[in-house]
Amino acid sequence: MNDVASTLGNIVRKRILVTGGAGFLGSHLCERLLSEGNDVICMDNYFTGNKQNIAHLMDNPAFELMRHDVTFPIYLEVDEIYNLACPASPIHYQHDPVQTTKTSVHGAINMLGLAKRTGAKIFQASTSEVYGDPKVHPQTEDYWGHVNPIGFRSCYDEGKRCAETLFFDYRRQHNLRIKVGRIFNTYGPRMHPNDGRVVSNFIVQALTGEDITIYGEGDQTRSFCYALDLIEAFHRIMATDDSFTGPVNIGNPDEFTIRQLAEKVLQMTNSKSKLVFKDLPSDDPTQRRPDISLAKKELDWEPQVKLEQGLEKTIEYFDTLLKGGKPSTEARVIGAA
Ligand code: NAD
Ligand code: UDP
Repeated sequence: MNDVASTLGNIVRKRILVTGGAGFLGSHLCERLLSEGNDVICMDNYFTGNKQNIAHLMDNPAFELMRHDVTFPIYLEVDEIYNLACPASPIHYQHDPVQTTKTSVHGAINMLGLAKRTGAKIFQASTSEVYGDPKVHPQTEDYWGHVNPIGFRSCYDEGKRCAETLFFDYRRQHNLRIKVGRIFNTYGPRMHPNDGRVVSNFIVQALTGEDITIYGEGDQTRSFCYALDLIEAFHRIMATDDSFTGPVNIGNPDEFTIRQLAEKVLQMTNSKSKLVFKDLPSDDPTQRRPDISLAKKELDWEPQVKLEQGLEKTIEYFDTLLKGGKPSTEARVIGAA
């Protein structure tokens, strides 16, 4: 730890930078880090995130909000960096694909440069998309993937792959303390209602009585992890000793077809919405499920929240939001294993 950390009694107070901190996962992470007594700098350019996600943290003197684009260098004194800045939903990352690649690649270079100068430990929010449309199932960390380098998803997939390369080269060349987590589909309160990802789309459509848009036949699979389970994994990854770098898969291994997800959401919302079938976007992965053996072994971590429990909390969130109310900031699931 460098000298910006301070000690108060037995509590070590770290100064932690979260890029993409006003986004869905970033806001949950900021909240968790503050609850542990740290100083948190939340950096965001508000491309897909918004101030509403972190409004409840603004009065906390240990919280600092900074509008900044991660593709530009920045000079700060920090002990730890969580690099989450990057749009995660296909419609958003395909909106300006050149900026998406820049965010992953220039963003990684800038944050790794900051980590090099300050000696900070640095975590990269990587993704299951580094496996592309995988031919190995479930996906293990030693699988190199099956990725189209020139398609519509490539700006995200290849950007994240290049970011991983940079992390490991900075490790080899400059001995940086790096941590790489490969995140599988994650959902929960504070996803943006127009985010375009499948869980938020289906819930919003079901609650408003619109058609549920299934892309393709709906037999492609995904494995859905609840946000707070994932934040616990981030915490455990950062706490590993310096010899542990990852990459490590973090996600929920319970796998569902997209049609099963639609039916579950319809049933849980008592909705009369109809299923409609739309064209499948190009390069849409046909199956995805993490092998989390490494996370179990190295982090003693596995998800605790079942899909129904997480969906219930997420439905509650969107229901309040759509009725014009102020959703609770409490995302914990009572009774999770
Ligand atoms: P999100 O879109 O809600 O959050 C991303 C945040 O990054 C937003 O607040 C956005 O405004 C900010 N941002 C984007 N470009 C930026 C830039 N150039 N400079 C500064 N800030 C910028 O998405 P999320 O689901 O919270 O994802 C967070 C991270 O986790 C992303 O890196 C994403 O790739 C990764 N991830 C998420 C999932 C998932 O299912 N949620 C899966 C795999 C990987
Ligand atoms: N999907 C869908 N309807 C929607 C949104 C997404 O059928 O309204 C499908 C999408 O084609 C993909 C899966 O759901 O097969 C997950 O999509 P998402 O955008 O959430 O994440 P991805 O895993 O593709 O990055």
